[in-house]
Amino acid sequence: MDRTQHIVILGAAESGVGAAILAKIKGFSVFVSDAGAIKSSSKEELQHYDIPFEEEGHTLMELLKADKVVKSPGIPSKAPIILTLLEHQIPVVSEIEFARPFSKGKTVCITGSNGKTTTTLWIYHILKKAGFDVALAGNVGYSYAKQVALDDRAWYVLELSSFQLDDVFDFKADVAVLTNISPDHLDRYDYQIDRYIDAKFRILQNMDESCFVIYNADDLVIETRIKQANTKAVLVPFSLTKSLPFGGFVAQENLIINIKTTTTMSIHELALKGKHNTQNALAAGIAARLLEIRPQLVRESLMDFENVEHRMEFVAKVNGVNFINDSKATNINAVWYALESMTTPTVWIVGGVDKGNDYSELTELVKAKVKAIVCLGKENQKIKDAFGSIVPEFIETTSASDAVKAAFRCSAQDDTVLLSPGCASFDLFDNYEHRGIQFKNAVRNL
Ligand code: ADP
Repeated sequence: MDRTQHIVILGAAESGVGAAILAKIKGFSVFVSDAGAIKSSSKEELQHYDIPFEEEGHTLMELLKADKVVKSPGIPSKAPIILTLLEHQIPVVSEIEFARPFSKGKTVCITGSNGKTTTTLWIYHILKKAGFDVALAGNVGYSYAKQVALDDRAWYVLELSSFQLDDVFDFKADVAVLTNISPDHLDRYDYQIDRYIDAKFRILQNMDESCFVIYNADDLVIETRIKQANTKAVLVPFSLTKSLPFGGFVAQENLIINIKTTTTMSIHELALKGKHNTQNALAAGIAARLLEIRPQLVRESLMDFENVEHRMEFVAKVNGVNFINDSKATNINAVWYALESMTTPTVWIVGGVDKGNDYSELTELVKAKVKAIVCLGKENQKIKDAFGSIVPEFIETTSASDAVKAAFRCSAQDDTVLLSPGCASFDLFDNYEHRGIQFKNAVRNL
């Protein structure tokens, strides 16, 4: 890359600041511009590296001086500023695209609608335990570019959202994992599922014979699209239902990975429970075996991994009632797996900002498992229309504490209260973490 280029970074959160630091260290001239206010910790970092920035608005003249723009994943491709830059033929790329040429490391990239963070952390856990020189980056909260700039590693485990993949062109993943694809974030893709799927499949571009794609063969969308994709990479499927000579699957409650040799363990030994986590374990175990980690170490790491907060997290048992925090379930597919894994009558706390949900996919599960619904959101009409007539109790609340109290009143000994909202949290909370923490505090205050 020509180091005399002027790089403009749009957005000064984790990925933007990371890209700015990398650009500066590599000798480019850099300018950072954010439409909103920049956090003081980010400003301090930019100042530390002597990187000029502006906040609460973009100065178009400054932006048009760019030879290349690095866009934060939070900025929609249709934002007027992006359209203007493209009209001026200024290339717009994502942070990972910008950073990749500066790293000597290989990448394991995880994408999909659900299970990305869990699978990313699980793979990282195994690689770390196996002694790899590895870093964790991407959507999980640490900038890839910053890591490349300050302490480049031999391996990266990267969680990639569809937004991050929207602006990649030459980026190459060495190992890709496609967990599943179900409607999510459709608001950013003009409510066209195909455009969202296309973004996910951008992970395959540039992969060659030396690369591996680990994919969920039970997912119809993935199964169909992967065959059409004509990738040169080696395809490695996993399934909960089909036995596979190459890949991983479940048979008679055993998890079996066939890569070079056979690695077997009981699914009851897995650190995380539920079908969705068995899928995540399959993906993680396959990745580890492709990187030639010993079967015994793979087994151990699938057993001793610790769960991440807000994902089917057990909170407490109060008067015999179990409380589970699944605040990260922000779409219907994640809720489906949460409800599917319930083994007791369930009081379901649901609601928030709807991203285009089709609740009918949950009808059968709700009929079979849910005894009461507690809405936690400002606008609940769609949920009421979908389930109001099939669940005996339907209560509307607008705070975590009222939701928990109402759910507790509806429940009996051995029931489960499950917060699995299926929606974003921005109507009542800062983010899903804030919602999960308020839920847990409310449970502890019962
Ligand atoms: P992501 O990073 O893709 O949002 P997470 O690992 O944070 O995924 O999990 C998000 C939600 O999806 C949680 O509610 C979790 O219990 C659920 N989940 C985790 N893995 C899967 C999977 N493989 N399929 C469906 N849902 C899943």
